[in-house]
Amino acid sequence: MYKAKAERMEDKIKTFSQFGDAGHGGITRYSLSPEAHMARDEFVKRMKAIGAEIETDDLACIYATLPGTDPNAKRIIMQSHCDSVKNGGNYDGIYGVMTAMEVLEVVAENKIEHKHPLTAAIVTNEEGSLYPPAMMVSGIIANDYLPPELAKNFKYDDMMASKAMEEHEGSAKTFGEALAASKYKGDKANRLSPDKYCAMIEAHIEQGPILEDNGNEVGAVQCVLGMFNYSLIFKGFAAHAGTFPMNKRHDALYAASTALCYMHDEIDKLGHPELVYTTGEIYAHPCVHTVIPDEVEFSLDVRHEDPKVLEAVMDILKDMATKTWKGCTMELRENWKRDTVYWNKDLVRFVEESMEEAGLKWQKINSGAGHDAQFFSYMIPTTMIFIRSEKGLSHCEPEHSSVSDCTAGATAAVNAILKADAFFD
Ligand SMILES: [Zn+2]
Repeated sequence: MYKAKAERMEDKIKTFSQFGDAGHGGITRYSLSPEAHMARDEFVKRMKAIGAEIETDDLACIYATLPGTDPNAKRIIMQSHCDSVKNGGNYDGIYGVMTAMEVLEVVAENKIEHKHPLTAAIVTNEEGSLYPPAMMVSGIIANDYLPPELAKNFKYDDMMASKAMEEHEGSAKTFGEALAASKYKGDKANRLSPDKYCAMIEAHIEQGPILEDNGNEVGAVQCVLGMFNYSLIFKGFAAHAGTFPMNKRHDALYAASTALCYMHDEIDKLGHPELVYTTGEIYAHPCVHTVIPDEVEFSLDVRHEDPKVLEAVMDILKDMATKTWKGCTMELRENWKRDTVYWNKDLVRFVEESMEEAGLKWQKINSGAGHDAQFFSYMIPTTMIFIRSEKGLSHCEPEHSSVSDCTAGATAAVNAILKADAFFD
């Protein structure tokens, strides 16, 4: 049983929180920005200091590797991202990078013998905040292994052409241009692949309140929840707001709002406490205050582990589409969906055993958010470790996890990695 060092974790947290410091407790650190390059430089500096070999791939992912005793063994990798959302926190993504670093630091410091090369990595552009979509680079790297309906969203050429969402100092117009300008753009041959890598663990903050509510420090993640994203589209007709009588209107916004309330009631009646669903986008046409809206569209994002539960929600939506709402028609459009992704059972067990043996307060948990690990899991055995997020907050500046919880996650990681090292050929 090895332990991560709290002082070293704290030093990393403090140091990395400076890169992109927005001045009120959080960071804005877009992928490949000058701030992200400062974080990358720090990563490389610290990894070189413990004797790790540094490689970069053509997508500017950085791999720092400590060689193992068996020259033929494949690598075991821990990775996450160093980019953030706009006005994000000091933990999402970079916590997984700091944990990967800590694992290598513990191994180097204690001269722990290991068969497999051990790699700590930064994967480029997970958030997709400046250059969408999210999980862009893992989507490119794992493209040949992804189900076709996912792979089509992450074609290399399309991703290179991804336009910056906003202009700011030092940013390029497209992701491809940002990449070309990065000193970390390297060789395609260095990309993560099943030929060179045999297992992956990604550590991450939970980004929800479950661990905190249960008084647990860490979670052994079992799966990433299946989800679907649909648009509900209501069509009526437009007319003048001042002249057209109420009883003759087919107001698409009134229809959509009535349907939204009905939909909530019906989904809640299914009685699944772990089912989550969100309407986060709404478009009204023509969106003019003197015109009755003729078309209104809202999104619905639904997540649950069990495909039968997702199907039950789908049935409600399909039934709704057969009805008229305040004189308006309703259509459904599928935007995207993914099945529940279960992590590798052996790796999950190693994580659980490590948490138990280290005397940590832990539980099994699912991930409602997507992570790069989810795409990489189509290539190599993969799992994740979660640590407690204070108040469940994430993607905002108050996002926080204690040094103690950060260290607990790294302790679980180092021991799980050593179990994996002994297990895999
Ligand atoms: Zn993240």
